[in-house]
Amino acid sequence: MKEGRAMKIEEVQSTSKKQRIATHTHIKGLGLDTSGNAIPLAAGFVGQLAAREAAGIVVDMIRQKKMAGRALLLAGPPSTGKTALALGICQELGSKVPFCPMVGSEVYSSEVKKTEVLMENFRRAIGLRIKETKEVYEGEVTELSPEEGENATGGYGKSISHVIIGLKTVKGTKQLKLDPTIYDALIKEKVAVGDVIYIEANSGAVKRVGRCDAFATEFDLEAEEYVPIPKGEVHKKKEIVQDVTLHDLDAANARPQGGQDILSLMGQMMKPRKTEITDKLRQEINMVVNRYIDEGTAELVPGVLFIDEVHMLDIECFSYLNRALESSISPIVILATNRGICNVRGTDMPSPHGIPIDLLDRLVIIRTETYGPTEMIQILAIRAQVEEIDIDEDSLAYLGEIGQQASLRHAIQLLSPASIVAKINGREKICKADLEEVTSLYLDAKSSARLLQEQQERYIT
Ligand code: ATP
Repeated sequence: MKEGRAMKIEEVQSTSKKQRIATHTHIKGLGLDTSGNAIPLAAGFVGQLAAREAAGIVVDMIRQKKMAGRALLLAGPPSTGKTALALGICQELGSKVPFCPMVGSEVYSSEVKKTEVLMENFRRAIGLRIKETKEVYEGEVTELSPEEGENATGGYGKSISHVIIGLKTVKGTKQLKLDPTIYDALIKEKVAVGDVIYIEANSGAVKRVGRCDAFATEFDLEAEEYVPIPKGEVHKKKEIVQDVTLHDLDAANARPQGGQDILSLMGQMMKPRKTEITDKLRQEINMVVNRYIDEGTAELVPGVLFIDEVHMLDIECFSYLNRALESSISPIVILATNRGICNVRGTDMPSPHGIPIDLLDRLVIIRTETYGPTEMIQILAIRAQVEEIDIDEDSLAYLGEIGQQASLRHAIQLLSPASIVAKINGREKICKADLEEVTSLYLDAKSSARLLQEQQERYIT
């Protein structure tokens, strides 16, 4: 890989799957005290004490590197907080630790190989903290030419060959001549006199809030002209820390690298929008990453790969998982299932949780228990608060009952439509009537299944 491509690291945008964890925003950790005991209501977590304490021990094992080659399995009925526990573990490991949730059935796609989907998710769960020491001018803008808004020959237009800015740095005021490519960014960032900006001495990037390309030159008093800033001249060092995942790097480097001329744009249109991330590309990225790690510029941050409904994976995926767990750069793998003994998909071999015995052997298993009414109501109250939904005590208790009969997830999902119904009825607070209205509109999975069974003859089979 060329050096120039490796530099792309600094522009990488994170591609994390945020929407999947939207219903867990209240979970801030495992809520354990210093001796590892679960506090009944802490860090957004309610009850499930034994599972939380067991998860806390797993966090310690991960910290002591004792989970290498192993994985965690969360087994329990639907909506008993398996995803919430996995997220809690991830948060206990650190605030910038990547969390990548996926569902077993995601691997089945007509376009992408199963193992490819798994590999992508593995790489989404491996973080890289890149520390770069940039040589930068940091200073206050004292002069801006042309002034913003000035329009002699088109203001910041293309006809002006350069922008001169005066920059007060630690060494005194300098005049810098910047390449025209900076116009757009200066306008976009609304850079004005008095602002503090950064200019990288080598690559010439300017940073204020965002980042843009520009080439800086420095006014040479003796020669009375603007000269390029000598490479390597450091005016001030600044450490920039960036957290990305290996998948972010793969995706950034797989994007078409073509220029803006018409021919390369045409070329890009012919190609699929997302160029493929090949094994070769991944190997190249790994090489660069390893070099960065050896040089001390980057640090590996293993995150959490959470695979829900793991029984949906088939034997091929399980053998991939087995191998992947042994790799030296593996994330923490947390599996979840609500199945008992069932066939391993792709075989007629029955096994606990539909997981092959050789993988089961590597697993630490934590059970989650169904919630009682009090805990369910507490969880619902937290969600209502987080979603800024007003609901009275009686309705909350009623919603708890619905949760007991259907599932906690179903009860949580009724909060938003009920709050809309309340508003339509001219109320700020949800009351029991609103909940009754939405329960008559939306079926939970159990009632829907019952209805299907009762009215079987009316459906096409
Ligand atoms: P499934 O098997 O259907 O995937 P799950 O066991 O992963 O379900 P979650 O999705 O974690 O269950 O739980 C459903 C909802 O309830 C989520 O919004 C979750 O954050 C919340 N929740 C579950 N358990 C707790 C708990 N003990 N404390 C606080 N919130 C919880």
